[in-house]
Amino acid sequence: MSAPVEVRVPDIGDFKDVAVIEVLVQPGDTVAVEQSLITIESDKASMEIPSSKAGVVQALKIQVGDTVNEGSVILLLEAAAVTATADASPPAGDSRNAPAPAGETRDAPAPAPAPAPDPAPASRAPASPTASSAAPSAAPARGTSAGAIGGDLTCDLLVLGAGPGGYSAAFRAADLGLEVVLVERYASLGGVCLNVGCIPSKALLHVAAVMDEVAHFGDLGVAFGAPSVDTAKLVAHKNKVVGRLTGGLAQMAKMRKVTIVTGQGRFADDHHVEVDLASGGTTRIGFARAVIAAGSEAVKLPFMPKDDPRVVTSTGALELPQVPERMLVVGGGIIGLEMATVYSTLGARLDVVEMLDGLMAGADRDLVKVWQKLNAPRFDHILLKTKTVSAEARDDGILVRFEGEGALKEQVYDFVLQAVGRVPNGRNIGAEAAGVAVGERGFVAVDIQMRTNVPHIFAVGDIVGQPMLAHKAVHEAHVAAEVAAGEQLGDAKLAKAAFNARVIPSVAYTDPEIAWVGVTEDDAKARGVKVKKGLFPWTASGRAIANGRDEGFTKLLFDEASHAIVGGGIVGTHAGDMIGEIALAIEMGADAVDIGKTIHPHPTLGESIGMAAEAFEGVCTDLPPVKKR
Ligand SMILES: Cc1cc2nc3c(=O)[nH]c(=O)nc-3n(C[C@H](O)[C@H](O)[C@H](O)COP(=O)(O)OP(=O)(O)OC[C@H]3O[C@@H](n4cnc5c(N)ncnc54)[C@H](O)[C@@H]3O)c2cc1C
Repeated sequence: MSAPVEVRVPDIGDFKDVAVIEVLVQPGDTVAVEQSLITIESDKASMEIPSSKAGVVQALKIQVGDTVNEGSVILLLEAAAVTATADASPPAGDSRNAPAPAGETRDAPAPAPAPAPDPAPASRAPASPTASSAAPSAAPARGTSAGAIGGDLTCDLLVLGAGPGGYSAAFRAADLGLEVVLVERYASLGGVCLNVGCIPSKALLHVAAVMDEVAHFGDLGVAFGAPSVDTAKLVAHKNKVVGRLTGGLAQMAKMRKVTIVTGQGRFADDHHVEVDLASGGTTRIGFARAVIAAGSEAVKLPFMPKDDPRVVTSTGALELPQVPERMLVVGGGIIGLEMATVYSTLGARLDVVEMLDGLMAGADRDLVKVWQKLNAPRFDHILLKTKTVSAEARDDGILVRFEGEGALKEQVYDFVLQAVGRVPNGRNIGAEAAGVAVGERGFVAVDIQMRTNVPHIFAVGDIVGQPMLAHKAVHEAHVAAEVAAGEQLGDAKLAKAAFNARVIPSVAYTDPEIAWVGVTEDDAKARGVKVKKGLFPWTASGRAIANGRDEGFTKLLFDEASHAIVGGGIVGTHAGDMIGEIALAIEMGADAVDIGKTIHPHPTLGESIGMAAEAFEGVCTDLPPVKKR
């Protein structure tokens, strides 16, 4: 019998002194890893706290009514053997290990100018193996091939998951000369982004944006009739877009001689992955190095009715199963509001409920304000500082109850979208068997070379932390592939690759779009960072006025002392297409003069960036003169 171990409250974000409202286990119970132990409730959320270990409960250290914080001891456990721990991993899609994060996870911007290690979970410090981890063997020496490792199939680099992180790692490594196997559970490559994320949402958002635009053309002298929407055809269009891109990936994999293995993979040890093949049977793949790119899944709220087609996550919403009359969007982050835009343009009336005090957390409030003013007609209610506490399937709809400052009395909705964040798949890949440390919330910690604590196993994309964005995954993937190839091929320069991007841009593809990068004004204020702003309102932009869309603005933030650009935000049409220029300026260390003196073509929305820099310098002739003091 082993000594009892303490199971503690994991990182629960900003929540402090949270009340225990339910204790779900008793002394003598056998618990599995990820089994819920207690339910805690703050004024913003209730969440179940899972066990980090498997074993038998010896003693409870808390009771209902107590308050807890990160690190509080929940109970003492007589820990089970390591194998039991591994076996107890929840199935894919189980979201219990993630306290539902506030708002949408895509919101978190990267801090600028240096990529300081994010707070957990986006740590870039190599984590030490957990006590239950198998001891990893050493990284293979330069030039070591996987042949000696054995397996039904062997490779230089195995990539687990074929989303933007996985296929980019696989393709880059193959281009560098490695033999690569890409394991993906679904038949279609491209992961969340191509199949149920970025691409299908943008296909639908584009249609919605055109519909919204032509609806206002009557004012310009060109009237169209009311649209007639064939949702089946719209879905077919979206699926065709997805098919074209995912098919293109399959072709490119073939051209690079990347071997695709379709099935659910899990580590058997630190040099083998076992795959339950989609075609039946199991295969064992030996690898010299591996990249974990297993991504994330949408969080499902525990109290939502299960298997009811009227309750969906973004994946279900993208199927457009209906255009409801009344729709509730739970979570006012980017994904929720993008889907809300599509459904409302198609005819749904919307309520949105958000635990925080504003929508689209992470973006500056002045940007969001412009979006909110223009979009107010879409919503019956925007419930802020409010949480959804229960939902019940009834014949006439989903009966939802709320609590909080903006709470309405119970409401019945035809359709409910849960957009409360995403949980990493770190607990679903048998990482323990390889000795790869996985944090309490399912994230895999990596260093700036994208190495996990096991030096020859890398991890990239959503599974390593915020922001959960496809473009971040791709860049991390290239780093992992280059380091792996550099070591394998003995190329010292490649082996030194590192993820050292200063900033990662965020975009909400709503209408108008909101895009931001680097330091935000609100964050600078909160942290006491001294910045000065250059702002160009689109009411002075010839192109925005000609487009009939002058509600936006472009703002740049400069370091007060050096005038180097440290951040920027744009609200307006095509903001997402323009934010890359500001990211480039930050990466290049440009200052206001560099940007203002760069000749931008006229008339474009992009010239608002140059003019915002000129406004900062007080030399913009497209704005009223600066008052002399
Ligand atoms: C609705 C929506 C809209 C979005 N819009 C944008 C956007 O506009 N811009 C943006 O940058 N980001 C957007 N995102 C986020 C973006 O999709 C993710 O950040 C991105 O897909 C992460 O890439 P990844 O490679 O890390 O993981 P994923 O794309 O999640 O891919 C992981 C892959 O691994 C596979 N896998 C997992 N476990 C296993 C296993 N055990 N065996 C085999 N295969 C496995 C999965 O099936 C999946 O294909 C959006 C997300 C959603 C949900």
